[in-house]
Amino acid sequence: MADKFDVIVIGAGPGGYVAAIRAAQLGLKTACVEKWVNKEGKTVHGGTCLNVGCIPSKALLETSHKFVEARDHYNEIGIEVGEPTPNVAKMHEFKEQVIAKNVGGISALFKANGVTALEGSGKVLSSKQVEVTGHDGEKATYEADNIVIASGSVPVEIPPTPLTEGLIVNSTGALEFEEVPKRLGVIGAGVIGLELGSVWNRLGSEVTMLEAMDTFLPMVDKDIAKETQKLLKKQGLDIRLGTRVTGSEIKDNEVVVKYADAEGEKEITFDKLIVCVGRRPYTEALLGEDAGVNLDERGFIFVDDQCRTSVPGVYAIGDCVRGQMLAHKASEEGMMVADIIAGHKAEMNYDAIPCVIYTSPEVAWVGMTEQDAKAAGIEVKTGSFPFSANGRALANNAAEGSAKVIADAETDRILGMHIVSQHAGELIAQGVIAMEFGSSAEDIALTCYAHPSTSEAIHEAALAVDGHAIHMANRKKRK
Ligand SMILES: Cc1cc2nc3c(=O)[nH]c(=O)nc-3n(C[C@H](O)[C@H](O)[C@H](O)COP(=O)(O)OP(=O)(O)OC[C@H]3O[C@@H](n4cnc5c(N)ncnc54)[C@H](O)[C@@H]3O)c2cc1C
Repeated sequence: MADKFDVIVIGAGPGGYVAAIRAAQLGLKTACVEKWVNKEGKTVHGGTCLNVGCIPSKALLETSHKFVEARDHYNEIGIEVGEPTPNVAKMHEFKEQVIAKNVGGISALFKANGVTALEGSGKVLSSKQVEVTGHDGEKATYEADNIVIASGSVPVEIPPTPLTEGLIVNSTGALEFEEVPKRLGVIGAGVIGLELGSVWNRLGSEVTMLEAMDTFLPMVDKDIAKETQKLLKKQGLDIRLGTRVTGSEIKDNEVVVKYADAEGEKEITFDKLIVCVGRRPYTEALLGEDAGVNLDERGFIFVDDQCRTSVPGVYAIGDCVRGQMLAHKASEEGMMVADIIAGHKAEMNYDAIPCVIYTSPEVAWVGMTEQDAKAAGIEVKTGSFPFSANGRALANNAAEGSAKVIADAETDRILGMHIVSQHAGELIAQGVIAMEFGSSAEDIALTCYAHPSTSEAIHEAALAVDGHAIHMANRKKRK
């Protein structure tokens, strides 16, 4: 038997590495097992998020956005740069540098905090033992008073479009196209599909998105979703709702996709196809036969509100458990679990988790939509404000979009905030903090905002809840 630890974390994604660092900070002897190896065969930390998710996608979104700015918008503000051309190889180089810096940062943090990094695949055995199979096949067994499973998720594949090297790819493959595909298909117009579709659309692909649902972004407030759909359409994304993909065929190095919509059976040909239909929990080879950790009916590790599994002392967090598949949700659960293990009282507020789609403009939201609230029988009042009436947004030459605040009609408590705008992903933190502190719309309305700032649109949306926005035709007379 090898070493004994207070805590062994399995998986070093944003759930696992944060749990491990927090546990070590709280004085617990902590190890973190990770099996991910990069192209050079080196174990890397950071999981999906840092290696093939949040970070590389944002690097490509930023570079492709800058390209569009230079091509389409610099001229409007008096900068003449000639005809810019995207250098895809260089963009990938930049992306890889960004990944390397982030990944290296986690290893450094492990060292600085005294987390023991174990390399290989971890398996939960009975009696809180973890077997680690190294990359050379050597096995070692460790004991732990507590185990935190943070094994993450993988992309869902669908039978009509089996992955086909270089032609039909998942999100990971879509981050690596060496050239800009002329005709690009994306199955799924959710968060990841919209981001990846945007990257390649900006760089020159004709992008067609096939989405089975009839509603665009149903989790976003209807007004904001509608505005987003219009803005993305204007950029050239052909988003076809209510389309069910039924099959595909590779013909002469092209992908022929069959789908059905309200008009009947159709076919469309692409040079590349991205399958972005969601992710599923990853639990392969993770649980020994007598580990006793239960899964739910959808394959997620079953946990309670505080991420306890069916085995005392064994916790699970992040994408491998219920809830939104988001890096920051995984990290928050990681901190909560480490705190609980260290004997502190800790809980998560699952009602105040922000979501962001990093399109341009960005879409960001927290809490309920107006429609959710009404469906739950809550009477609401709402306030909206367009960025076209915000001085800073106009000066930024980025005045598209609007912000909407949803408040309880009786108590004025903020129930949700939904935004489509440049940097909405930054602005939404105001909604999260407001909800976390149980603020009313009036609390925001009475707060002094810096001028000129795009944040003032949030101030105005909060003022608009009572019909008193300043830079908009007022609906009500102030008493
Ligand atoms: C293209 C894309 C873009 C995204 N963009 C965003 C975004 O902008 N914002 C956001 O919040 N989320 C985003 N996500 C989602 C985000 O990446 C995940 O929600 C997040 O990574 C989940 O963290 P996790 O720690 O639960 O799992 P993961 O990040 O998946 O990490 C799990 C780790 O566990 C390891 N592991 C699994 N099993 C074992 C085992 N048995 N032994 C040892 N190690 C094991 C894996 O190798 C992996 O490193 C994106 C995802 C994708 C694919």
